Amino acid sequence: MEEIKIIKTGSPKAKPDEGALGFGAYYTDHMFIMDYTEGRGWHSPRIEPYRALTLDPAALVFHYAQECFEGMKAYRTADGRVLLFRPEKNAERMQRTHRRLCIPEIPAEDFVAAVKALVSVDKDWVPHEPDTSLYLRPFTIATEAVLGVKPSATYQFIIIASPSGAYYAEGMNPVKIYVENEYVRATPGGTGYIKCGGNYAASLIGQMKAHELGYSQVLWLDGVERRYVEEVGSMNCFFKIGGVVRTAPCTGTVLPGITRMSCIELLQKWGYTVDCENRLPLADVLAAGRDGTLEEVFGTGTAAVISPVGELRYENEVLTVNGFQTGPLTQRLYDTITGIQWGRLPDELGWTVEVK
Ligand SMILES: *Cc1c(COP(=O)(O)O)cnc(C)c1O
Repeated sequence: MEEIKIIKTGSPKAKPDEGALGFGAYYTDHMFIMDYTEGRGWHSPRIEPYRALTLDPAALVFHYAQECFEGMKAYRTADGRVLLFRPEKNAERMQRTHRRLCIPEIPAEDFVAAVKALVSVDKDWVPHEPDTSLYLRPFTIATEAVLGVKPSATYQFIIIASPSGAYYAEGMNPVKIYVENEYVRATPGGTGYIKCGGNYAASLIGQMKAHELGYSQVLWLDGVERRYVEEVGSMNCFFKIGGVVRTAPCTGTVLPGITRMSCIELLQKWGYTVDCENRLPLADVLAAGRDGTLEEVFGTGTAAVISPVGELRYENEVLTVNGFQTGPLTQRLYDTITGIQWGRLPDELGWTVEVK
């Protein structure tokens, strides 16, 4: 990648109150942008003052959804360092996403360098309060103005950053999950394994249905038979049944979460049996719930890290998990991963990268 040109803002914004950040309500002073032009490749990497985009209304992104994104965070440690968590994994996933959407790949080291450069310029925006972070949203959009259906000849790769509040401002409370048996999120051969906006647009209706029924998230079943458990909303999902920890395999319809991968690695290191290769029938989860061997259920993702599940509803059956309490393994994973991210625990696995 060429050298990143840095154009700093002449009018920095006032920083928001760190006690009331919420999620996605504030954006930092700068953004990273890089262009792609057919024949020239990715070029002109730069950091500019945060601003609105100007795009032709015929730009392909608006019509055929050729776009994708990543989600990651920068964390401030008690001694004032700023850390990223496994950013090369986001870079590699973004490459797989680009390939599926016929968007030219960005070298992984350039992706990481771009993230680091933006966080470095906006370092003062990484909040200090416990469990707060700077959420980073890299994304790519097709910008060519033609209405024919084809891969765009031009793209923009952009990174924006948003200071975010503690996810569990009111403590870690289990959530109620609705098992969706009508709509599906992903099918084999489709885009379930990549982070593209289209997946989310198609999942909103299931999410709305769950909300209307009093549930906070959807547990998606496989798109063919609606028999196997796949994901919870925008999180991967783990089930501890009779001592064995199970999660859906990432074979095309499940998003390969970096939190999922990190949980699997920790669980294996701690000596647990993890089955992340075989599909898990919903019937086995329900049977375990009835006979008392369903010990813990939790979702995993960058935003919440770990989200305990206290209740599952499938059709007219309601299962309570672990007495609607956060289970000990759920808690241990949460404490370990967040401990590494915020520098409270030693990073024995080499997962963090410091931003200077
Ligand atoms: C991003 C995402 C996840 C979680 O991935 P992480 O890398 O752990 O944040 C899980 N499922 C879906 C559908 C996602 O988009």
